[in-house]
Amino acid sequence: QFRLSQPTVVPQYSAIARLLSTLAVLEQRDGKLSVQSLATVAAGQKIGGSVTGLVAGSGAKAVAEAAAKVKGVEKIIYIENGAYDRGLPENWAPLLVENVKKGGFTHLIAAHGAFGKSLLPRVAALLDSQQISDVTGVESEDTFVRPIYAGNAILTVQSLDPIKILTVRGTAFPTPETEGGSAAVEEGVDPKVESPTEWLSEDLAKSDRPDLGSAERVVSGGRGLKSKEEFDRLIPPLADALGAAIGASRAAVDSGFADNSLQVGQTGKNVAPQLYLCAGISGAIQHLAGMKDSKVIAAINKDPEAPIFQVADVGLVGDLFEKVPELTEKLKAQ
Ligand code: FAD
Repeated sequence: QFRLSQPTVVPQYSAIARLLSTLAVLEQRDGKLSVQSLATVAAGQKIGGSVTGLVAGSGAKAVAEAAAKVKGVEKIIYIENGAYDRGLPENWAPLLVENVKKGGFTHLIAAHGAFGKSLLPRVAALLDSQQISDVTGVESEDTFVRPIYAGNAILTVQSLDPIKILTVRGTAFPTPETEGGSAAVEEGVDPKVESPTEWLSEDLAKSDRPDLGSAERVVSGGRGLKSKEEFDRLIPPLADALGAAIGASRAAVDSGFADNSLQVGQTGKNVAPQLYLCAGISGAIQHLAGMKDSKVIAAINKDPEAPIFQVADVGLVGDLFEKVPELTEKLKAQ
């Protein structure tokens, strides 16, 4: 006589048992922790398990002490070595590989910026893992959400790799509190790989304005401004009146109205401020890809059919050469 046994119920993640652990790459510049890179911590927390931060470069120990106060981080590992100061991926890739192996991490996360985008594919290749880029949501420890086709489609992707390697979009995750945590601080492994690549120089655009990537308010100008002179005459005073960062469309950047570092969109920066106010921007999908998560979108355009009005919360149909100075004056008078 046979009796059918009850099917065994397999838990969704067999890792009730398996310990999840994330290594979050924390960035620093001149000894200051980059707040944008803290999205890695928020993403790690969403995955579950423990989150360890990694900082490297000259003065890394001091940065590690500051990072230890970030809420939700269990441990910070630091590597004190000037070879990591300039973010050369040739130096960083072996560093991450060694630390991931040593710590037995299940997830490695970096911010989806120039540094992370250049670094993690190398690490993924060295660890024989498939990288998942520009993650905007975490569904579970192995399932992630990311936009494709300039944000026109949203892909949910499951990874079976033993080590998941992700870059995460900063604006999609809340910034954890930077005070109140008490993570342990420990020295990490330094493979001290001699790379043939040498850092020579960099030419950074300097500005006293809020940083475009993290500003609460952004004022952006597009091709409708017609020239660099008009862009400079109209956009900065409006941005000043609002205490905002300045952004631009790619058409404005390509036409030389604004610096490349100000480009918002698929091939520029992703921003999600409280207010995104734009003038003379049509709202091409590649531009929307970089700003449509903004809390309030306000647009000035003379064409009532401009696609930007489909995403705008507030729209003003009119000539920007009249409306922008008028708005600036009204804001200044407040
Ligand atoms: P236009 O599309 O020319 O729009 C100008 C707008 O100004 C019009 O709507 C017009 O009605 C309005 N206007 C004109 N005069 C006035 C006036 N006097 N008053 C009020 N309104 C006026 N674009 C980006 O922005 N960011 C990106 O990262 C980006 N990446 C791209 C990547 C790829 C692979 C490709 C193919 C394209 C990319 N683009 C990107 C380009 C994008 O497709 C558009 O060409 C660009 O965004 C258009 O910029 P714009 O809105 O300033 O110019």
